[in-house]
Amino acid sequence: MTGFRERYLKTVHHTIERYRLVEPGDCIFVALSGGKDSGSALYTLTRYVEERGVECRLQPFHINLGFPFSQRVEEVVEEQAEFLGLSLKVFHASDYGVDMERIAKLPRPICSSCGLVKRYLMNRLPRELGATKLATGHHADDFIVFFFKNLLGGNLEWSSKFVPKLPTRGKQLGRIRPLFFVGGEENRRFAEEVGLPHLKEDLCPYSTYGCGVDRSKRMWLEVIDYISRRQRGFRRRMMTSIMRLAETLSTQRPETQPLRECRICGEPTSGEICAFCRLLEAQRRVD
Ligand code: SF4
Ligand code: ZN
Repeated sequence: MTGFRERYLKTVHHTIERYRLVEPGDCIFVALSGGKDSGSALYTLTRYVEERGVECRLQPFHINLGFPFSQRVEEVVEEQAEFLGLSLKVFHASDYGVDMERIAKLPRPICSSCGLVKRYLMNRLPRELGATKLATGHHADDFIVFFFKNLLGGNLEWSSKFVPKLPTRGKQLGRIRPLFFVGGEENRRFAEEVGLPHLKEDLCPYSTYGCGVDRSKRMWLEVIDYISRRQRGFRRRMMTSIMRLAETLSTQRPETQPLRECRICGEPTSGEICAFCRLLEAQRRVD
């Protein structure tokens, strides 16, 4: 094994162990998008569970959004699960009333609607199938970008959930982020080195700089890359500070308000009707 691969695995496994992301008896649903990040999250979790002999279940799953290119994405995700000897669960957003073609015609950014659909189904479907945790491929660069955006926007408290593990809260399934201390480029290199199948280009026609990446995120990613090439340990130190800040913020402002349940679908929401049901309602009104 190369020095890089060893260091990468050591960092991720240390994160899993230190923050108890995997515990005996867990049923962890791992969300796969076909990319290097979620694929690396599944790979490292699988290796961790095998090496430590943890009695738990890892269940990779994918949400097929119903775009014309979604079939190709699903094939790659199938290859990833097969590569690791796991069976995949695929859910179709259309089975839950989603029509991305109609949603694309709404006067709101398509990536924001797409993200909303994914977040909603990624919470609801695994939970209904008995998941104890949801694992995602969110990594250090994602959190650092959001942190800077929140800081500059005067919304520092929005960073209060930037931690490797969020506990289950009512119907809100607990989240684990094994890649919390590694960046996107490291995930790409790791996936390449271990031969993990993954999408190398963006298939979505709505993607400008990458799936869900806008101009400002692109700029921040370049800044992070610039600094980390000149300052060793930048990502790790940033993430340690962001995590400490998040812990302080959530201690100072504990979530006292219980989450309500959507009047239509029963899923968690802060209002009367959840954003997903409101999106479906708007979609119905599209000609
Ligand atoms: Fe969805 Fe990604 Fe396409 Fe945006 S770029 S619409 S987030 S798949
Ligand atoms: Zn709802």
